[in-house]
Amino acid sequence: MTATYDAIVVGGGHNGLVAAAYLARSGAKTVVLEGRHKTGGAATTESPWPDAPEFKVTRLSYVMSLLPPTIIKDLELDRHGYKIYPMGPYYQAFPEGGSIKLYADDAKRNHESVSKWSKKDADAMPKWDAWLAGLADVLGPLLLTVPPAIGSRKPRELAATLKLAWRNRGLDVRTIADVTRLMTMSIADLLDDWFESPEVKGALAVNGVIGTWAGPYEPGTAYVMAHHSIGDVGDGHLGNWGFQEGGMGAVSNAIELAARSHGAEIRINAPVARILVEGGRAAGVVLANGDELRAKTIVSTLHPRTAFLEQVGPENLPADFTADIERWKTRSGVVKINLALAELPDFIADPGVELQEHHTGSVEMAPTMEYIERAFQDAREGKAAVRPFSDGVIPTAFDKTLCPEGNHIMSLFTQWVPQDWNLEPHTEELEAYADRMIDCYNELAPNFKASILHRDIVGPYEMEQEYGLIGGNIFHGELSLEQLFHMRPAPGFADYRTPVPGLYYGSSATHAGGGVCGIPGWQAAKAAISDKKASKRSRRS
Ligand SMILES: Cc1cc2nc3c(=O)[nH]c(=O)nc-3n(C[C@H](O)[C@H](O)[C@H](O)COP(=O)(O)OP(=O)(O)OC[C@H]3O[C@@H](n4cnc5c(N)ncnc54)[C@H](O)[C@@H]3O)c2cc1C
Repeated sequence: MTATYDAIVVGGGHNGLVAAAYLARSGAKTVVLEGRHKTGGAATTESPWPDAPEFKVTRLSYVMSLLPPTIIKDLELDRHGYKIYPMGPYYQAFPEGGSIKLYADDAKRNHESVSKWSKKDADAMPKWDAWLAGLADVLGPLLLTVPPAIGSRKPRELAATLKLAWRNRGLDVRTIADVTRLMTMSIADLLDDWFESPEVKGALAVNGVIGTWAGPYEPGTAYVMAHHSIGDVGDGHLGNWGFQEGGMGAVSNAIELAARSHGAEIRINAPVARILVEGGRAAGVVLANGDELRAKTIVSTLHPRTAFLEQVGPENLPADFTADIERWKTRSGVVKINLALAELPDFIADPGVELQEHHTGSVEMAPTMEYIERAFQDAREGKAAVRPFSDGVIPTAFDKTLCPEGNHIMSLFTQWVPQDWNLEPHTEELEAYADRMIDCYNELAPNFKASILHRDIVGPYEMEQEYGLIGGNIFHGELSLEQLFHMRPAPGFADYRTPVPGLYYGSSATHAGGGVCGIPGWQAAKAAISDKKASKRSRRS
C-alpha cells in the first residue's frame, strides 16, 4: 500500500506533534507516524497498575518549564487543555533533623529559610538569583536561536554567525566571563564560590545533575543547572516549574489536538522501519508492516542513532556525519519510580499528613554534595547507588485528576544505576534499588514505606526498549558541552536540516532539546516550511 502526503512526521512524541501542528497549519497534508499504542513519547500519562487503573502517573517526564509562550500561543494550547499549576518550594529534610525550603519567587521567605542554615548564604541568595537572571537573559534567547554552522564559509552560514555576534554585541567582559564559567565549571565548584552551607549547596545542586551521567564535581554540570533554570511556566518567574493537570500526557494531548485541528492525521501503532532516500533526496518511509508512505518533506523526531544509523542508513549519509552520530553520548543511569500513596509523607522535620506547603514542590533526596557524588560514584564503579539521589514530586498536591480523593501519586526521578543497564532488564536489582530509595525517604518520613499502595519502576532498559530512549538518556543525548548548540546533533547540521535534502530533524537531540519544550519540533517545521517557500520562489523565477 502506498499513500502520499506533503509531510510525514516520524515519532509522535511532543516534538513530533509540535512539528505536525506547524506543518499542518502551513497547509501541508501531514501525517504523524507513532510506533507505540499512544502518542506523547516521554511526555506521557499512563496507568501502570492493571488492578488499579484509577491511579495515573506521568510515567517519565513529570514537570513543565521550558515550553515557550510562542508555541503555547500559536497552537492555542490553553484551549486544548494545557493547564499548569506552578510548583511550591524545593524541600529537603535532613536525617540529622531540620529541613530547608527554597522559594523560586519569594526572596523574603527564601532568606528566612536559608538563614536557619547560614546567615551568610541567606544574604548571598538574592545576588545569586540576580546573577542567574542575568545569565538567563543571555542564554534564554539562545534557546530560540538556530545555531549557525560555525566555521562554514558558505555566505548564508557566515551571515548567520555574524548576525549572532551582532545580536550579542552588548555583552561585556564580565558577562562573557560568567557565561564561560557556567559552561565549563562543575556545579559543586560554582556553588562553593557562592555559598558555605552543605545543606544549601546540596539543594541547589539538584538541577545540575538531573538526567546527567555526571556527578556534581564534573565540569559542565553548572550548565545543566542553567538549562533547568532558564525557563518559566509562563508566569514570568525564572526557573519556576509546574505540574500539568492530567500529567505530562495532557501536554502531548493538547499539542495533538492542536495538530488535528489544523488537519494533521495521527497514526498510532505505526512503527517506521526505514526512511526512503531516492536520488539523494528524502522520498518517503516504509513502515514495519511493509506499507509505504511517500512525501517530499519528512521530519524525524527519533533518537539520532535510530533516525540516522538505522532508518536512513550510513549508505545515504556522509562518513563524517555518520561517525559523529556513532560517537553521540547517550548515557544517563536514571530510574523513574512512580508510587501510589495512601497518605502524604509525614516528615519528622515538618510533621503532619495533611497537605502542607513542603508537599507542593520538589521533595528532594539530595542532602549534601557528597551524598549526590557518592550516588554517582557507586554507579561509575558498576553498581546501583546504595543511597540514591532523587528529585521527588507529588503532583496530586494540586492535580485531583490523577487518583482517588485522599490518595496521592508521587514521582521519584532517581539516579544513578550503571550506564550499561540499558542492555539488560536488571529487574531484581532495580527492585532492591527502589527499596533502598524508599528506605531513604522513610528515614525522614517514617510513614512513607507503609503508605505505598503500588509502585512502578522504569529503568534504562525499559526506557530504551519501550520508549526508544537509546542508552536510557532522557534527552536523546547528553547535555554535555561537546553536544550543545552548533554541535547538537552534529557540527554543520544544527539547523534542523540533515545531510539528506527534504529530511529534517526535530528531536530532543537538537539544540534547545532536552525537555518538554517543543522547540526542536517547531524549528524543524519552520526549516521545512521555509525551504518549501524558497523552492517555490526559485521555480517561479
Ligand atoms: C524519566 C524522564 C524524566 C524526564 N523529566 C522531564 C521533566 O520533568 N521535564 C522536562 O521538561 N523534560 C523531562 N524529560 C525529558 C523530556 O521528556 C524529553 O526530552 C522529551 O519528552 C523528548 O521529546 P521528543 O518528542 O523529542 O522525543 P520522544 O518523547 O522520545 O518521542 C519520540 C517518539 O517516537 C516514537 N518512536 C520511536 N521509534 C519509532 C519508530 N521506529 N517509528 C515511529 N515512532 C517511533 C516513540 O514511541 C516516541 O513517542 C524527562 C525524560 C525522562 C525519560
